Amino acid sequence: MNTSIPFNKPLVNEAGRRYVAEALSSGKQSGDGPFTQRCHALLESLLGAPKVLLSTSCTHALEMTALLLHLQPGDEVIMPSFTFTSTANAFALRGARIVFADIRRDTLNLDERQVESLITARTKAIVVVHYAGVGCEMDVLLEVAKRHGIAVIEDNAHGLFAKYRGRYLGTFGGLAAQSFHETKNFSSGEGGALIINEPRFIEEAEVIREKGTNRSRFFRGEVDKYSWIGLGSSYLPSDILAALLLSQLEAREEIQSRRRRIWQNYYAGLEAWADQQGVGLPFVPGYCDQAYHMFYLLLPSLQDRQALIGHLRSRGILAVFHYLPLHLSEYGRRWGGKDGDCPVAEDVSARLLRLPFFFSLTDTEQAAIIDSICSFVPHHVRQQAYFQA
Ligand SMILES: *Cc1c(COP(=O)(O)O)cnc(C)c1O
Repeated sequence: MNTSIPFNKPLVNEAGRRYVAEALSSGKQSGDGPFTQRCHALLESLLGAPKVLLSTSCTHALEMTALLLHLQPGDEVIMPSFTFTSTANAFALRGARIVFADIRRDTLNLDERQVESLITARTKAIVVVHYAGVGCEMDVLLEVAKRHGIAVIEDNAHGLFAKYRGRYLGTFGGLAAQSFHETKNFSSGEGGALIINEPRFIEEAEVIREKGTNRSRFFRGEVDKYSWIGLGSSYLPSDILAALLLSQLEAREEIQSRRRRIWQNYYAGLEAWADQQGVGLPFVPGYCDQAYHMFYLLLPSLQDRQALIGHLRSRGILAVFHYLPLHLSEYGRRWGGKDGDCPVAEDVSARLLRLPFFFSLTDTEQAAIIDSICSFVPHHVRQQAYFQA
């Protein structure tokens, strides 16, 4: 068989080509042009957020949150170990100490039951990551944070337009970060956004994003000149990228309904096999509307996961593992992370496999992936069959 199915394929629709061409001929290539304004307005009205600011990446939006919290060296930030490096880097860059918590076995989200015991007098924030675009237990987390007077930041890279108990992810924390990286549901190649839910952050966020200047106020005619007024960097993306992003945000219903279909096809096609072979499938609580960002399998062991990667690769299908627990990474160990600190993250990380998942994945390709997986028998099942024989 000559199938060749990548893990991800970026989406470019007709409107995307048209908008980018328009941006190129508009005479405005830097940030905060007309396409950026349209992205801001669309996201603010859809999410009901007081302010949305496009950024050059989710990483940079997270860095903006760390600056907005005025973190000082020695301040502590609690987050799951099972996440991307950017979640931690953004706060480590400000000198904060990263305190890693374990994840729940069912949703693979931050285990809200462990958070309170990790809070100290120096804790400034809890950073939640809505893994696979399935909401964390925000009721509990918000209550704990409020009781201790600490901030909640959402790394919502996976979860745009998903909901927890009827409310959009990214609108729970004072601040939230979105990603528009090529591998996410909506992409501008590289890009992100800061969602500001607490209006007191708006003015300073604009300064941070504009190299520490009050240029945004100057452009609105609120001041007659602009100058350096605080810490900042260059966090606003080119309007050309915003043009590409707008085309996808406008096509959100088509994109999300196709992704929902792909997710449901995987679930229906793999359920019986997974049950028989002791393989775990994603769990979505009934009160969560997920983002259909990802479909993963939890194989019985690391050995099985590696074997299935090889089995699929030999059939031209690229399936990939995901986060290595940050507390066990080279840098995380330097901060005292050790084996056994976050047992669920350590276990899940070794067994998780993500399947190809992108808008243009066809039904035929998906059927080939499902067939290939169903012809795979995990090692422990083969052994059982041998002992029973
Ligand atoms: C992709 C991702 C990021 C980084 O996003 P960029 O836009 O590439 O900076 C951060 N956190 C999580 C959870 C991600 O999945």
